[in-house]
Amino acid sequence: MTMNCKARVDENSCSGHGDCVDVAPTNFLLDDDLAEVIADGPLELLIEAAEACPAAAISVIDPSSGEQLYP
Ligand code: SF4
Repeated sequence: MTMNCKARVDENSCSGHGDCVDVAPTNFLLDDDLAEVIADGPLELLIEAAEACPAAAISVIDPSSGEQLYP
């Protein structure tokens, strides 16, 4: 699937260890122990990053409909 999706990080849940950055360095950046979303990206990659997050802090959204695709 090639649709570009939007990721969101719940900053209250993020524990800042950077697993999301390891999986998707083009989409996430670690700033002051808090993950920041730096770019939209392919659905599968963002879901992979969300699944790797030990704090379940990442959700993935379809930017055109606003529908939450993950979790
Ligand atoms: S993997 Fe989750 S907890 Fe870890 S930095 Fe990324 S968003 Fe935060």
